[in-house]
Amino acid sequence: MDTQAKIFVAGHNGLVGSAIVRALQSRGYINLVTRSSKELDLRNQAAVEDFFATEQPDYVFLAAAKVGGIQANNVYRGEFLYDNLMIEANVIHSAYRHQVQKLLFLGSSCIYPKLAPQPMREDALLSGFLEPTNEPYAIAKIAGLKLCENYCRQYGVNFISAMPTNLYGINDNFDLANSHVLPALMRKFHDATVTDAPTVTVWGTGEPLREFLYVDDLADALLFLMDNYDRPEFINVGTGEEISIKELALTIQAVVGFEGELVFDTSKPDGTPRKLMDVSRLKELGWQANTDLKTGIEQTYAWYLENLDTFR
Ligand code: GDP
Repeated sequence: MDTQAKIFVAGHNGLVGSAIVRALQSRGYINLVTRSSKELDLRNQAAVEDFFATEQPDYVFLAAAKVGGIQANNVYRGEFLYDNLMIEANVIHSAYRHQVQKLLFLGSSCIYPKLAPQPMREDALLSGFLEPTNEPYAIAKIAGLKLCENYCRQYGVNFISAMPTNLYGINDNFDLANSHVLPALMRKFHDATVTDAPTVTVWGTGEPLREFLYVDDLADALLFLMDNYDRPEFINVGTGEEISIKELALTIQAVVGFEGELVFDTSKPDGTPRKLMDVSRLKELGWQANTDLKTGIEQTYAWYLENLDTFR
């Protein structure tokens, strides 16, 4: 990408979109186009078509999505499917109609079957049943990556897809009911420290294994893919390392400095038992994550403390 190119970052207020904007700005890209969801409802086809006709972006990062943790995915099942399908279909189709040079679509590691062999290789897609708690979101993300892949094959466009593992970092959603595990636990430990509570509750057994990628590392990988990857097949983005939810909780506890006990609430779902990406394709291309989990958690917590009053 040329630093003068017009780049539309869809979802720029979110965890991923805001990291992409930071990465682009720090590398001297000056022609960024953004719209909040209030200014442009990406679920509205006519509005999206109008936007592309007017702005004519050269590049698109499609980081807009309805997202949430295990509980939000499970409760707002219809919304997760509809909103994500509409956003993807509208943006990808308008990007095709208006000759966008390259588009990068963001998926998720939950596209893989619940019991996929670990670490999960790209060819595990559609080889088994999905995890039921996030099946609607996963179906929408599978539809999105297949749109990119098949628009490449039918129309010869350059629309690529990246599947990131669990992400965390600044601008995350720290809402207790709807967020992902890492920000939820950070907030629980913080609140418990402030109120001097004796315990913090961790959902599930603590045994599931997850992989966590710092969102600024993700943004770096996405810019790398924009410049170095031109294939219709999607590609995994992760660290290749996993940690149990219990170990994760202990790490966050140490960073926040909570001195009480952990309680595991096994009435809450564990979700998929293991979710580790095989990142050998990305490594072969020459990219690797460089923020270790503890450092990333420390940076996120420092940001959390500075921004406590301004959360979404
Ligand atoms: P998942 O990776 O799609 O399953 O999504 P989450 O990040 O929401 O959850 C990951 C794991 O962390 C699951 O096993 C959850 O049960 C567990 N977990 C433990 N405590 C919490 C919490 O406070 N919030 C969330 N969202 N998950 C938690």
